[in-house]
Amino acid sequence: MIIVMSPGATKEDIAKVENKLKSVGLQAHLSVGAERTIVGVIGDKKIIGNLEMNMLPGVEKTVRITEKYKLVSREFHPENSVVDVDGVKVGGEQLVVMAGPCSVESLEQLREAAQAVKAGGAQFLRGGAFKPRTSPYDFQGLAEDGLKLLRQVADENGLKVVTEIVDKDDIELVGQYADLYQVGARNMQNFQLLKALGRAKKPVMLKRGLSATISEWLNAAEYIAAGGNENIILCERGIRTYETYTRNTLDLSAVAAVKELSHLPIIVDPSHGTGRWQMVQPMARAAVAAGADGLIIEVHPHPEIALSDGDQSLTPKKFNVLMSDLERIAAVMGRTV
Ligand code: PEP
Ligand code: MN
Repeated sequence: MIIVMSPGATKEDIAKVENKLKSVGLQAHLSVGAERTIVGVIGDKKIIGNLEMNMLPGVEKTVRITEKYKLVSREFHPENSVVDVDGVKVGGEQLVVMAGPCSVESLEQLREAAQAVKAGGAQFLRGGAFKPRTSPYDFQGLAEDGLKLLRQVADENGLKVVTEIVDKDDIELVGQYADLYQVGARNMQNFQLLKALGRAKKPVMLKRGLSATISEWLNAAEYIAAGGNENIILCERGIRTYETYTRNTLDLSAVAAVKELSHLPIIVDPSHGTGRWQMVQPMARAAVAAGADGLIIEVHPHPEIALSDGDQSLTPKKFNVLMSDLERIAAVMGRTV
């Protein structure tokens, strides 16, 4: 349930509402907007069902929420959320670009990639140190050595670090090196990991599962928020369909849907979304035009020898071209790059 306070509601009115909720064991979640305050109610469904709040002073109306996710819903929080990742704001006027190789392979490879993505205008260096590969015989990542390289090279270039976490027991370790935890598509419904990240101190980027509905995805985000960590960025990375020409089907309609349903920022991954470098640039442009708050793009200095995802990686030169294209699209959308 949400309780919509009238524009003239006083602080005392809001406090009365909060106290009443507390007294019956419910939690109040305040969203203070320019016009009015909205109080989201969390707790036992039965208690909420019997709740009578309309009579309290300053209450304009109460609205039942049908969806199971609450904290991440736009009903609970009508204004867009901006997630601050160590000073870089995701979801504000400026688009955020995260770029770098699929996997951290070596100091030389990562340094070359980082210099290129910085020069192109990215704010984040991406790179996997723990790789969730389809085959156990494929390169699995450099683990902590990879995390160290990410931190070192990102710092050399004034970039933030985003990297994937696959195991809840690694939260502390990854958090020592990363600015933003990435939950990959294969772990979107790893509820133990999501719960543990709910207690983590750093923001989380939650990729959409390979065959997850938008509702399942937002419920996964709710797991993190319910644990107390509301600094969540969603990432559309394509879903499984019958199409085989592309690696996945990039669902750009999810950007518009998420903007309706949730206040969380959403970025798009056209690299995994298509699996083909030729399609990355047009889909990146389309993502920004659809209203995405940013992009995550695979860039490798030598895609032909990449240990993973070379087919979908841009060269530094192509990444540069993409970034200058984005500037023009961003301007049309009233945003900057
Ligand atoms: C990645 O970003 O490196 C990755 C593995 O992506 P996804 O989880 O979307 O497949
Ligand atoms: Mn990849």
